[in-house]
Amino acid sequence: MIGAADDELTIYERSRPGRRAFVAPALDVPEAPLDELLPTSLRRAEPPRLPEVSEPEIVRHYNRLSKRNFDLDTGFYPLGSCTMKHNPKLHERVAALSGHAHLHPLQDPRRAQGALELMWRLQQALAEIAGLPHVSLQPSAGSHGELAGVLLTRAFHEDHGEVRTKVLTPDTAHGTNPATVTMAGYEVVKVGTDADGNVDLDDLRAKADAEVACLMLTNPSTLGLFEPGIEQIAEIVHGVGATLYYDGANLNAIMGVCRPGDMGFDIVHFNLHKTFTQPHGGGGPGSGPIAVAERIAPYLPRPQVVGRDGAANGGSEAGYDLDYDRPKSIGRLRGMHGNYGVFVRAYAYIRSLGAAGLREVSEVAVLNANYLLARLRHEGVLEYLPSAYPRLCMHEFVLSGAPMKRELQIRTLDLAKRLLDHGVHPPTVYFPLIVEEALLIEPTETETRETLDRFAAAVAEILREARDDPSVARSAPYRTPVRRLDEAAASRRPVIRQPR
Ligand SMILES: *Cc1c(COP(=O)(O)O)cnc(C)c1O
Repeated sequence: MIGAADDELTIYERSRPGRRAFVAPALDVPEAPLDELLPTSLRRAEPPRLPEVSEPEIVRHYNRLSKRNFDLDTGFYPLGSCTMKHNPKLHERVAALSGHAHLHPLQDPRRAQGALELMWRLQQALAEIAGLPHVSLQPSAGSHGELAGVLLTRAFHEDHGEVRTKVLTPDTAHGTNPATVTMAGYEVVKVGTDADGNVDLDDLRAKADAEVACLMLTNPSTLGLFEPGIEQIAEIVHGVGATLYYDGANLNAIMGVCRPGDMGFDIVHFNLHKTFTQPHGGGGPGSGPIAVAERIAPYLPRPQVVGRDGAANGGSEAGYDLDYDRPKSIGRLRGMHGNYGVFVRAYAYIRSLGAAGLREVSEVAVLNANYLLARLRHEGVLEYLPSAYPRLCMHEFVLSGAPMKRELQIRTLDLAKRLLDHGVHPPTVYFPLIVEEALLIEPTETETRETLDRFAAAVAEILREARDDPSVARSAPYRTPVRRLDEAAASRRPVIRQPR
C-alpha cells in the first residue's frame, strides 16, 4: 500500500516549500506598515518553522496516526483510577454549537450570559453532588484541584493566625497527592494502611498533631475500598484543627449514593474528565473543579461565577457575573475561567442523567467491578492473581501478580503487554505501590457483560499460555504498531520536537 510505505514520516518530513491547505482571501482593507502593527523588537527575525502540507496530506497523516493508538472508541480500557468510561457523542454535538465553541474567553460577561449561566448551574450541580456549598470551576485537572485545595488550606490556617508544616497522605495515595503537597511547600507525612486495606487509625492518631495542615484522602481508596472508619478519620483530623481533603478521582463509585461533604470532608476536587465523561488520556483538556465548606469559601480562587438577584433564584432579571471582589482569595489559578468545553460536556452529562441516573452510574460501576472480579475467580485467574484485599470492592479492584510471577514466570507487565494482542487496553499496573506486582482494574459502568466475560477469558488464556511457554507473554505485544518501548527513556529523555 502506497499510504503505508511512508507511515513513519513526521508531518515535518512531509513538508514541501509552498504547499498549502488553504487560500487566504485577498486583503480588502488598506495595508498598514508592519511597524505600526507590531514593533520590530517584538517581531520574529525568522518566520516560524511550520510544516507546509496540502489538506489531503494533513488528513491522511493524522488519520493514520490516530489508528496507531488505542482508544476507548476502539476497545475495552479498564485503566484503574482513570475511569475510562464511554463518552456520549451527544456531548460533542452540544460542545460544538457555535455559541459554545466560538465564544471568546474575554467576552464581556453581559454578552456571555448563557455561558455564565451554564457555569453557574454546573457549580450548583457539583455542590449538590459533593454535599458542599461553594464551587470553583477554575482548576484544569484533578492535580490542579489538589494544588488549589492545599493552597486554600494554607490560606485558611494563616487567616486564623496559624502556621502548619505537614500534610498527611495515605501510602496508597495517587502520586499527584504527595507531589502537590511538596509543590505547595509542605512536608509529606505518609499514613499506613492496615491489614484490611483501610487507613491505619492508630498510625493516623500518632501522626495527627498541631503541625498537620490537612489529610488528603481518596474514598473509596485507590485499592477500590470504601473507608469504613471515615467518620473517625474526620474526627481525628478535625480534632487537631486540620482540614480533610477529598481526592474525587473515585467519585464514580459513590456519586448520587453518598456525599463527601456529609462524610466530613472540607474540600473536594472533581475530575470532570473521569467521572463526568470527557475524552481524556491524551493529555487534556481536563478539568478539576473544587467544592468547599462554608469556612473555606472566602479563600476560593478569583473570579467566581455568581448569579445575581433574580438569576440565582431563577427569576426573570437574569444576570450572571464574574465576581472579582474577593479580598481573601488565593487569587487566579490560570488564565481565563477554566476549560469551558469540558464544562459543557459535564453539564450535558449531568442534565441528561439526572439525580437518579447519576446514582445508577455508581451502582452499575460497582456491580460491574464485583461481577468482573467474580468472573475472574470463576475462570481460575485468582489462583495466580489473588485479590489484594479480598472483600467487596467498589468500582475497581486490585489483584497481585506475585504468585503469577513466582509460578508462571511472567510479570504483571508481561500480562499487560499480552492483553494488547487481545485488543484490550491493559489495566493500571504497579499501582497502588503497596501491592506487589499490582494490577488495578476498573471496568466502569458503560461496558457490557459480554465485554467483561471476554476480558476474564483473555486473562485466563494468557495464564494458560504462560504455563506452556512464558516467553510468549514476555516478548508481547506482537500485534501493535510498535513492540515494547523503553518506557524509562521515554519519560527521562523524551524527544518532543522534530530534530532540526
Ligand atoms: C487521576 C487521579 C488524580 C489526578 O488527576 P488528574 O486530573 O490526572 O490531574 C489524582 N488522584 C487519583 C486517585 C487519580 O486517579
